[in-house]
Amino acid sequence: MRKKVVAGNWKMNLSIGEGIALAEAIEHDIDKSNDTHVILFPPIAMAGAIKHHLERCSLGLQNFYPAQSGAFTGETSLMHAKDLGATYLLIGHSERRMVFGESNELIKMKVDQALIEGFKVVFCVGEPLSEREKGNEVQFVLNQLESGLFHLDANQWSKVILAYEPIWAIGTGVTANSAQAEEMHRQIRQEISKRCGADVAESLSILYGGSCTPQNANELFSCANVDGGLIGGAALNAASFGEIIRQA
Ligand code: PEP
Repeated sequence: MRKKVVAGNWKMNLSIGEGIALAEAIEHDIDKSNDTHVILFPPIAMAGAIKHHLERCSLGLQNFYPAQSGAFTGETSLMHAKDLGATYLLIGHSERRMVFGESNELIKMKVDQALIEGFKVVFCVGEPLSEREKGNEVQFVLNQLESGLFHLDANQWSKVILAYEPIWAIGTGVTANSAQAEEMHRQIRQEISKRCGADVAESLSILYGGSCTPQNANELFSCANVDGGLIGGAALNAASFGEIIRQA
């Protein structure tokens, strides 16, 4: 049985006080009998404060720089991530790739360093609309996996969660329909099975992300190859995030 996972990416939102209140409300709302794994990715500025309020949820960081220390103005190291109590790192999010110009090379370095330092990784892939319109969406996503993950061994893969996030669905209110999501997840799992082994592929949780809400989560999560969600906007509200957790 693959682990069901729901992760909340708060991006650069909320004051520290609002973040603490949201974390407390999410913790309070989770039914103790629900074994869905919940990961919160708050802004780094509030991660330490949030950690004190987490019991059931894991803490992740949205970003870091893959070096121990040094002349990297403005960056967060993995030593800082450990000090903050984070156990998960978000890597390859389309906003990091597009807004901040993160290259495939940097993303691979981040994966390797994160795993060496004992973190777990939520690795994002997803195509822009132009690639889907050309019918090239699967190849585009497989290329992202090739450059970021296909060199990993089975033990390293066991520390990875994948998130398929079509860029045209992120923050737009347009969700991939369940057939589109399932088809992509199925092809991803099939390729991973071919390249890295059936055991790796079958035990890997693949999340869907992109305008996932309490209204569409159930349909998406019912797909055979969808193991939960990476949630942006709907993760900023305890009631909607809690409902999505219930539906996983
Ligand atoms: C995200 O940014 O990872 C995301 C899925 O955002 P949203 O749910 O707002 O589309």
